[in-house]
Amino acid sequence: MPTPEEQATGARDLGALDGLVSDCRACPRLVAWREEVGRVKRRSFADWDYWSRPVPGFGPHDASMLLVGLAPAAHGGNRTGRMFTGDRSGDVLVAALHELGLANQATSERRDDGLRLHDVRFTAPVHCAPPDNKPTPTERDTCRPWLVRELELMRPTLRSLVVLGAFGWQAVMPALAQAGWQLPRPLPRFGHGVRVDLAAADPDRPGLAVFGCYHVSQQNTFTGRLTPAMLRDVLARAHAVATEGAATRGEAG
Ligand code: SF4
Repeated sequence: MPTPEEQATGARDLGALDGLVSDCRACPRLVAWREEVGRVKRRSFADWDYWSRPVPGFGPHDASMLLVGLAPAAHGGNRTGRMFTGDRSGDVLVAALHELGLANQATSERRDDGLRLHDVRFTAPVHCAPPDNKPTPTERDTCRPWLVRELELMRPTLRSLVVLGAFGWQAVMPALAQAGWQLPRPLPRFGHGVRVDLAAADPDRPGLAVFGCYHVSQQNTFTGRLTPAMLRDVLARAHAVATEGAATRGEAG
């Protein structure tokens, strides 16, 4: 079986990449877990036929903004087959995007619910649900080629990135470097509302504004650590940069 790197490199567009990701079995522990969760199920989803496969990115291929989470939730994306779909995290995120005009509806319940994103795409550094929402460093690194290729394929239009949580922040930085952006040294630290502008390694290409945002997990939204207003604010700032082409080269703010 070809490695994720060998397969991702050969993907000529995001449609092909999404198809290849969905068939990946490179991480034995995660393959076993995602399938086990789909067999055992949660009682409230007993009538569901769980997806139980890697969950690919979702959203328009020419989006100017990308949201990077952590990994699919066991009974959310791993059940429905779509990122941020079928759990409270997705509800919170999609409601915020809808308020900003970046989604056609405020809910995200199942793959065939008609949700369409406008100018924004979802992805994750790890495409399979991990036990306890904790992928190992090896699993994160094994999955990285998929993210690198997604970033490369989106590069013509991509102008801003919102990273949800510290895990995603640490995972996305090396992927950004591999996909053609320059990282400042020392590496910027994650924080809610932090913005870092990355220059492209190729000076003829545009830069990328990277924003940090607390993850939309229940742990954060139920406790008020992340409020809907805080989430909307970061998303609005990131989309304004994306649409105005305001990312400047090499500045941090
Ligand atoms: S986490 Fe990524 S690399 Fe590992 S099996 Fe899933 S899709 Fe493949």
